[in-house]
Amino acid sequence: MAFDIDMIKAVYSNMAERVNVARGVVGKPLTLAEKILYAHLWDGNAEKAFVRGKDYVDFAPDRIACQDATAQMALLQFMQAGKPKVAVPTTVHCDHLIQAKNGASADLKSANTTSAEVFDFLESVSNKYGIGFWKPGAGIIHQVVLENYAFPGGMMIGTDSHTVNAGGLGMVAIGVGGADAVDVMAGMAWELKFPKLIGVKLTGTISGWTAPKDVILKVAEILTAKGGTGAIVEYFGPGALSLSCTGKGTICNMGAEIGATTSTFGYDDAMERYLRATDRADIADAANKVKEHLTGDAEVYANPEDYFDELIEINLSELTPLLNGPFTPDLSTKVGVDMNKKATENDWPIAVEWGLIGSCTNSSYEDLSRASSIAQQAIDKGIKMKSELGINPGSEQVRYTAERDGILGIFENLDAKIFTNACGPCIGQWARYSDPKNAPKNSIVHSFNRNFAKRADGNPNTHAFVASPEITAAIAISGRLDFNPMTDKLINKNGEEVMFDEPTGWELPPKGFEVKDAGFLAPDEDGSGVEVKVSPDSERLQLLEPFTPIKDESLIGSKLLIKAFGKCTTDHISMAGPWLRFRGHLDNISNNCLIGAVNAFGKKTNFVKNQLTGEFGGVPDTARAYKAAGVRSIVVGDHNYGEGSSREHAAMEPRHLGVAAVIVKSFARIHETNLKKQGMLGLTFANESDYDLIQEDDTFNFIDISEFTPDKQLTIEVVHADGSKDVILVNHTYNDAQIEWYREGSALNVIKMENAG
Ligand code: SF4
Repeated sequence: MAFDIDMIKAVYSNMAERVNVARGVVGKPLTLAEKILYAHLWDGNAEKAFVRGKDYVDFAPDRIACQDATAQMALLQFMQAGKPKVAVPTTVHCDHLIQAKNGASADLKSANTTSAEVFDFLESVSNKYGIGFWKPGAGIIHQVVLENYAFPGGMMIGTDSHTVNAGGLGMVAIGVGGADAVDVMAGMAWELKFPKLIGVKLTGTISGWTAPKDVILKVAEILTAKGGTGAIVEYFGPGALSLSCTGKGTICNMGAEIGATTSTFGYDDAMERYLRATDRADIADAANKVKEHLTGDAEVYANPEDYFDELIEINLSELTPLLNGPFTPDLSTKVGVDMNKKATENDWPIAVEWGLIGSCTNSSYEDLSRASSIAQQAIDKGIKMKSELGINPGSEQVRYTAERDGILGIFENLDAKIFTNACGPCIGQWARYSDPKNAPKNSIVHSFNRNFAKRADGNPNTHAFVASPEITAAIAISGRLDFNPMTDKLINKNGEEVMFDEPTGWELPPKGFEVKDAGFLAPDEDGSGVEVKVSPDSERLQLLEPFTPIKDESLIGSKLLIKAFGKCTTDHISMAGPWLRFRGHLDNISNNCLIGAVNAFGKKTNFVKNQLTGEFGGVPDTARAYKAAGVRSIVVGDHNYGEGSSREHAAMEPRHLGVAAVIVKSFARIHETNLKKQGMLGLTFANESDYDLIQEDDTFNFIDISEFTPDKQLTIEVVHADGSKDVILVNHTYNDAQIEWYREGSALNVIKMENAG
C-alpha cells in the first residue's frame, strides 16, 4: 500500500529549481497552483509563461487513482494500448458498486456476489499491470487517497470528479475521464488548458456549529455551479490555518460542484499533523525541507488582487451553517428561519425522513466524531430520533478507529444504520424504495456533495439538501428541515425543552489511527503471467473495438437526435444508479444514453422523434435506428452541458450510437475533453441564441468540416422541415493533437498507432 517516498523526494528535489525558473519566466511571484503546475511540466523547466485559460500544456502527473465504476472502461482501454505495466503509480478502489441496504456486512457480502465478475476483473487487471488494488469495503477512493497517497505539492489525476479532494493535502488533483488516465498510464503526457486562478482569502476562525463544509457551501453560493469552470481555486489566509486537513479536503472536494478544475491549500501545520497521524512522517519531514515551495509566495497572498483572476474573501468568524439545495448544490439557505421561509414558499417538505453522513466529502474521523457528539447529546438529553440516520465511514481505517473509540456505537445507540465504507447512497446505490419512480415527495439531508434529482435514491420527488455532518445529525434528530440547533429547542421524552450544545470532536484520533486489514492488495512484481478474464457472454464487461473515424461526407445530412432542454449533467447523459452495473459493457450501458435529458420539444425525457419514420421513441433506440440507417446524429444542449462526473461513458455512449457532434451553449470541461478523446465533435454556438433556431426535424450539413483547424469556427447549415435554412457558426477548442484524435477516430487509436510505430 505504501506511498512511493522516493517518487515524492524526486518531486521535491526538482521543486526549488523548477519553481525558481518558473518565477523568472512568469516574471512575478507565484501562487501555489502555479508552482505545482510549473513543477509538473512534461518537458521539465518552464520555457515560457502560459496564458491562463488559453494555452494547452502537457503535464506529468505523479499518480493516478481510479474507482471501480470508471476503472472498468479505463482499464479496458489501457489493455488496448499494448503496454506491459502502467507508467505512473496507479490505484484502483472498489467503492461505487456496493449498495446500501441492510448494513455494512450484509451489503458487502451481497456486493461481493453480485459484482464478483467486475471485482475479479479489476483485481486481475490491476495485478497484471502493476496497479494497487483496494478491495470492496476498503473505503471511498478520495478518503483512501487522502490517507495514503496525497502529498503536498504533488499532482495527480483520477477517473472521478472528486479527485479534487486531495487538494486538502496541498495537491493539484484533477478529475479526468478514463481516456485521459489511459494516456498517463501508457506513459504519455497529460494535456490540460492552463487554468485561470481564483483566490479565496479566508479570514477569522471557524468555530461552534460552523464547519469547513459551510465554507464551500458559501463559495458555491457565490460562484454558482459553473463559476469555477476552467479555474483552480486556491484558498489562503489566516482562516485556512484554522481548518483541519480533512476539513480542507471537504472544501476542495466540493470544488467539483462549482465546476472548478481543482482547489488547493498551501502546506501547513494541519497537513503536517495529518501526514504524521496517517503514518507518513517521512513525507512530512521531506515536505518541511521545501516548505516555501509548497505554498504561494508571500507577496501573492499580501496583494492577491494582483495575482488571481478573481478574488473572494470569506470571514469564517461570520460564517453560519448553511443548507444547500434542493436539486442543485449552489442554492444556499441559512439554517433555521430562512429555511422555513424558503421551504414554505417553494413547497419543500419540512419533515426530514433521512439524514445521511458520509461520502468522500465528509467521512473522516473528525466528521464522524463531531456528528457523534450531537448523537450522544440526543441520547444524554433523552431526545428521540425523528428521522432515520445512515452512516458511511470513509475508509476501513476510519471505520476501525471510530468503532474502537466508541463513535460508531453512539450512532448505533440511536438506531442509525452503519453502511459499508463505500459511496452507497451518494451514487444512487441505496435500496431505499422498491419503486423509486413512484415514491412520494420528501426531504432528506446529507453531508454529501451532489444533490441532483434522483441522485441518492432514484426518486425524482426527493428533495436532497447538503449540509455539514454535525448539522445533518442535528436536523435528522429534530426531523425538521428548518431546525436551527443554535436557537431552537426540542422536546425530550420527559416533555422537557432541551437544546443541543455546540458540536465537539477530534481533528485526529487521540489514540492514533488503527486498522487490522485496510483492504489493499499489492500487484505482482511481474504480472506478465496473470490472465485477465472477460467472458464473451458477460452482461457487464465487453472488450472494446476501436471507433472508426467520422467521415466528412457523413456530416452532410446528419439528423437531430435530441435538443436537450436546461440542465444536462453526466447523470442525465449516462445515468448512474442501476446502470452502474454495465459500466464495463459499452453496448449495454448505451441503453441509458441521454435517457435523463429533457427533450426541448415536448419537455419529456427519453422521448424523441425519429425523423426517418416520424415515430417517437427512446433516445437510445432512435440513435440506434439512425446508426442502422447509416445516418449520423447530432445532440444539441444548453449551458454547462456535461457538468457532474468525469465518466467518459457520457461521451462513449453517444459515440457508440452514431452521434457525430454535440453542439451546446457551453460545456463542463471534463465532458468536453471526453468528447474529444472519443473522436467526436464538441462544439459551442458562436451565438448562443442560435440554440433557439434548432427545430425538431432539423438536418445538419457541416459544410466546412474538411477545413477543421484550431481557432477556426465551423459553419453548419441547419435545414428545417419546411426546407428553410439557417447557417450558423460554431466555436471549438480543439488543438492540432485533438484534431488528430478526431481524424483518427479516437485518442486511443492515436496512442496505439504511436506504440506500434
Ligand atoms: Fe463516491 Fe459520492 Fe464521492 Fe463520488 S461523490 S466518489 S459517488 S462518495
